[in-house]
Amino acid sequence: MLGPRNAERENQNPDIVNPPSTDRGGSPNLKYSFADAHVKARDGGWSREITARELPAARTIAGVNMRLAAGGVRELHWHKEAEWAFMLAGSARITALDSEGREFVADVRNGDLWYFPEGIPHSIQGLGDEGCEFLLAFSDGHFSEDSTFPITDMFAHMPREVLAKNFRVDRSAFRNIPAAERFIFRAPQPHEPVPDGGGERRRSGADLDMTFRMMEAKPDFESDAGWARIVDTKKFPISVHIAAALVEVNPGHLREIHWHPNADEWQYYIAGKGRMTVFSAEGRARTFDYQAGDVGAVPISMPHYIENTGDTPLRFLELFRTPIFEDISLMQWMAKTPHELVVAHLNLDRELVDGLPVDKYPII
Ligand code: MN
Ligand code: MN
Repeated sequence: MLGPRNAERENQNPDIVNPPSTDRGGSPNLKYSFADAHVKARDGGWSREITARELPAARTIAGVNMRLAAGGVRELHWHKEAEWAFMLAGSARITALDSEGREFVADVRNGDLWYFPEGIPHSIQGLGDEGCEFLLAFSDGHFSEDSTFPITDMFAHMPREVLAKNFRVDRSAFRNIPAAERFIFRAPQPHEPVPDGGGERRRSGADLDMTFRMMEAKPDFESDAGWARIVDTKKFPISVHIAAALVEVNPGHLREIHWHPNADEWQYYIAGKGRMTVFSAEGRARTFDYQAGDVGAVPISMPHYIENTGDTPLRFLELFRTPIFEDISLMQWMAKTPHELVVAHLNLDRELVDGLPVDKYPII
């Protein structure tokens, strides 16, 4: 290279700068980093989003990375998409109300997730000395955090005489309401633990638990190569629009070559470094590098792997807009197809194909 260059970015993208010889053609971009996303800052916290505007290949899910300071409130609001969340650091109190009038209050901390069905009103408040940071995923790639229904902005846009009639008070009661959305603001922290606690961190009149302790769940797969925890409606019945897998791949190992027959994949990288090649048919394939804070996308049914290219564990979330997590293992498919047929396609040694495991190994 002789011309101007951005060496820092090139170093983060070795497989873009110097693609494997197996890459070919014009696959869509499948990477966007939260480091490149606009930050919406308020007193009490900030948020940044990656929607189909930033990453057009991600049509089914949009993501938000949000930080709430101690006491910082993501104000009471709702939206027409479902909200799935993973707590990255710290702790928060969430509140919600379902359509039967049943309230839900819970404290969530690092490794927990929550799910608010579409249209269900809710809030989030950072707790403790440091507050919290979390990832939100919404069941539409075009969703924006700017298009929610906030209680403040709604009050600001209802005629005062209607507010007075609705709440059966004089209109002067509303003289101090905010003129527009607050979005995130500081408020006193709740000084009471979640009521009816008794060791539990939730109180609910709702039928379905809106939280799930993902890191406390037993891994669905675990070996020297890494582990995977899958959370879909089989374990977390309320989460009908988002299925998730939290995956850790140890150095030198690989999330095996596979694809998802039922949904696009939306990835959020939490720790470590990795790379992914996606084969998109018609002879096209492209390899991308990812690290903490990056988002990856894989359109439905396109085969891919994720290789740990660093010397620390690679941890990431796989999210899907579907009630059930599904993947197809290339290796298991070959092991369970008549071996002479497989050999005839690929000119492989028969011993290699005969030795393939019939069980699924998501990380190898
Ligand atoms: Mn929300
Ligand atoms: Mn996948």
